[in-house]
Amino acid sequence: MPAVSVEISKVRKTFGPTVALADVSLRAYAGEVHAIIGGNGSGKSTLAKVISGVLIPDSGQVSILGKAATTPHEARELGISNVFQEVLVADECSVLDNLYLGADGLLGSTVNKEERRANARALMAELLGFELDPDTLTGDLPLSIKQWITIARAMLTRPKVLILDESSAALDFESTERLFRKMREMKREGTAILIVTHRIAELVRIADRATVLRDGRTVGTLEEGGITEARILSL
Ligand code: ADP
Ligand code: MG
Repeated sequence: MPAVSVEISKVRKTFGPTVALADVSLRAYAGEVHAIIGGNGSGKSTLAKVISGVLIPDSGQVSILGKAATTPHEARELGISNVFQEVLVADECSVLDNLYLGADGLLGSTVNKEERRANARALMAELLGFELDPDTLTGDLPLSIKQWITIARAMLTRPKVLILDESSAALDFESTERLFRKMREMKREGTAILIVTHRIAELVRIADRATVLRDGRTVGTLEEGGITEARILSL
């Protein structure tokens, strides 16, 4: 049995009168792609933020690699990286600076500037399918490339748990293929990858298992081989 990377148990999270998560449990293993599926407003992004320590649940347990994180910083130290649904880039900064935004203290002392530049250039070329000058001003780039920057930023931290919240939304078919190839490579290295997506055809292709949410509750987990469009829709 592979190691458990993420264990969520009976989590509840409210925003004032809104119950975003009523009762959610989920287990993700090292080396799997685990999808989180559900309709609009079912709590997927809230769950992603609870896992990455951005939101603290009202009750329930969140365990990452056997430990509890109570701040985003602690979560990052444990090896979690979350690519948020909102594309968060600083338009006035270069691609390179955006890729290492918030990384100081985490990688700052061990990775020097030239190494950063080389890593950034190589990863962006792999993901984009063409060379991009890391000194390019981010504000001049189309949304799809900005989205790639947020994905690459998360991957550069070499996370043990990577969360992608609708991260392929602005990507075309070819780009999504390159993302999937990279995800499979990370899986082989033991990373647990959680993807939030509403594109059923896409997750049937990439996910090993899937947890289905409805109105902030877990309504089922689909196991390997059992992820079909019909079963997702029936849940
Ligand atoms: P999903 O990602 O599945 O579309 P969300 O997790 O974004 O769903 O939202 C779940 C519910 O919680 C929705 O009703 C949403 O309006 C509400 N919600 C999410 N974030 C906040 C917030 N920061 N403040 C108030 N309500 C929120
Ligand atoms: Mg969402």
